[in-house]
Amino acid sequence: MDFQLSEEQRLWRKSVHDFVKKEIKPLAKEINENEEIPPQLLKKMGPLGLLGMSVPEACGGAELDSISIAIAIEEIAWGDGGTALTIEAHNELGCAAVAAFGSESQKNKWLPPVASGEGKLTSLALTEPQAGSDLRNIKTSAKKEGDSWVLQGSKAWITNAGKAAFIVTLAVTDPDKGSRGMSMFIVPTDAPGLSIAPPEKKMGAGGTHSHAVSYENVRLPLENLLGKQGEGLQQTLHVLDGGRISVGAISVGIAQGALDEAVKYARERHSFGKPLQDHQAIQWLVADAATEIHAARLMVYYAAWLKEQGQPFTQAGAAAKLFATEMAERVSYSAIQIHGSYGYSREYPVEAMYRAARLMTIGEGTSEIQRLVIARKVFKDGPLQIP
Ligand SMILES: Cc1cc2nc3c(=O)[nH]c(=O)nc-3n(C[C@H](O)[C@H](O)[C@H](O)COP(=O)(O)OP(=O)(O)OC[C@H]3O[C@@H](n4cnc5c(N)ncnc54)[C@H](O)[C@@H]3O)c2cc1C
Repeated sequence: MDFQLSEEQRLWRKSVHDFVKKEIKPLAKEINENEEIPPQLLKKMGPLGLLGMSVPEACGGAELDSISIAIAIEEIAWGDGGTALTIEAHNELGCAAVAAFGSESQKNKWLPPVASGEGKLTSLALTEPQAGSDLRNIKTSAKKEGDSWVLQGSKAWITNAGKAAFIVTLAVTDPDKGSRGMSMFIVPTDAPGLSIAPPEKKMGAGGTHSHAVSYENVRLPLENLLGKQGEGLQQTLHVLDGGRISVGAISVGIAQGALDEAVKYARERHSFGKPLQDHQAIQWLVADAATEIHAARLMVYYAAWLKEQGQPFTQAGAAAKLFATEMAERVSYSAIQIHGSYGYSREYPVEAMYRAARLMTIGEGTSEIQRLVIARKVFKDGPLQIP
């Protein structure tokens, strides 16, 4: 067994960490207060490869291995959870869908502009007002009319839609065929009939924006079908398997950021004549947090490693997401506890970390859905094994 990152992965981690420490962490408070990532910050991520992590080199991307992608997303989340979700959704949902299922001409057309940092991102639109976990119940439809597909319907909570060049959209193409009757489409955001509502008002993760999107007779050329007609749901599940590893990585990063703040505070703050770090109750909170973060990081990297090896990783990815997201909530809760009243103040960063962490057990498949996926796999194939 080889429990080491490669030299390349270590160097990558250091360069992303240094970038985040210099460019993102100092802005985290402003990003959360203003609920906006400064556009110049997004542009700076392009040259580093952070906007094209899953994009082939031939299309101007960095074409990173899955562990390197997880490392980068974790590091960004260490700086700011909302910024990490923006970057994750762009790379691991919108770009990843086109990279995985696009034809050569689709990849060459759609990926280079969004991988370079020219300012536009990408989105994946699955959720609808009446259906999130239950994607078999989506209503957005796509009908073939002559040499066009015509889309009709509405989507909810679509991350990055307001900043996207295109929205990969799941729609029903063959209503009689159930789960084999859905398909994916590349919908440019300037398509007539597409409307993107203002960002939802959210509890946290201020840097990331999610929008309601409506499609009123949105007419697309036939070539905008992504992948095969009728395989949209299977393609979606494939993309979400990868996305779940990344949401696990965001959670590890948020938790690490919260623990770092808690350790710093526990060294400086005194009570009953000694620093907080000398009280055993505080030491236990710190020990539990450090242990859980380490376990979650191993799970996330392991799922990413399986993906990279081309081995099945659905169960490992779901388990990593489930554990890491729930862990991040526990750890950021403890970080607030260690700060006492100051933890509840917006002057300190841990309250924003706690609010960002709360989202992670919901987006890209709730904890309940992860448990459902894991249980199904355990009953069918048995529990996770180290190959
Ligand atoms: C900030 C944010 C960003 C998002 N970004 C995107 C995006 O970019 N693209 C996109 O398509 N969607 C996005 N979503 C939507 C997200 O993926 C859904 O919210 C999520 O999948 C859950 O769907 P739902 O909200 O409709 O909840 P529901 O499916 O209605 O579930 C409600 C509750 O019931 C539980 N439940 C449902 N079914 C079962 C079951 N069979 N067994 C046990 N429990 C069950 C759920 O776990 C949950 O607790 C985003 C959401 C948020 C909040």
